[in-house]
Amino acid sequence: MKIFKSIKTWQVERNKTSKTIGFVPTMGALHEGHLSLIKKSKKENKITIVSIFVNPTQFNDKKDLNNYPNTLEKDIKELKKMGTDYLIMPKYSEIYADNYTYKVSEDKLSKILCGSSRKGHFDGVLTIVMKLLNIAQADKAYFGEKDYQQYVLIKKMAETFFMKTKIIGCKTIKEKDGLAKSSRNLLLTEKERKLAPNFYKILKTKKSVPEKKKSLIKLGFKIDYIEKHDDRIFGAVKLGKVRLIDNVKI
Ligand code: AMP
Repeated sequence: MKIFKSIKTWQVERNKTSKTIGFVPTMGALHEGHLSLIKKSKKENKITIVSIFVNPTQFNDKKDLNNYPNTLEKDIKELKKMGTDYLIMPKYSEIYADNYTYKVSEDKLSKILCGSSRKGHFDGVLTIVMKLLNIAQADKAYFGEKDYQQYVLIKKMAETFFMKTKIIGCKTIKEKDGLAKSSRNLLLTEKERKLAPNFYKILKTKKSVPEKKKSLIKLGFKIDYIEKHDDRIFGAVKLGKVRLIDNVKI
């Protein structure tokens, strides 16, 4: 696996190949959710690129950014084991040479659900993904349906701006007890970790939205939102300091 920290050097390498390329952008602290995207990319493309970049512009809460888990050595070992061809790890100073004066924003879907409680979050997400997609120049890029709102926003952005990369959604990978795998799960205390699977269990019951909220609050979850949109129930809750999100198709 070749590792690139310089975007300029990567671009020279990128232009050497005409093979099909799959791209998996991540913020590191890799788990089986990320690995499932890489597996799919490897199956569908000749070359797979992964990026690791903890994107500061999408964190509305500084503490959340500072506490974001970093397991880089383990991640690199895992990526090599998976047969990843390239790892791109851009530096803030190069990828945000404009110091975030240019941004991509969306005015409708990005304002609800996670967008209403995390101000500016999706501007940060869309801007970094636009940059990364332009850098990778991949045929396909893979995103998890755990972050369903993010996946739809990115898919529509790529279509709206006539980008060459096709956005592929991938199913959510869960722990045995139903908790969606997430880098933030590492931050749960033992007690919170035991409680956490109830989030998904309650989300997928046939109960009404107010009843789901009541059951979650009773167990000690703080509700950010539980909302039904089209054929899905979306939820975001807090257990202690950790924010968990998930969604279920009805
Ligand atoms: P992150 O590192 O959290 O930014 O996630 C990078 C990518 O992995 C995003 O497309 C996420 O939606 C995806 N992802 C994270 N957790 C899971 C999961 N449990 N199952 C499937 N995809 C996931």
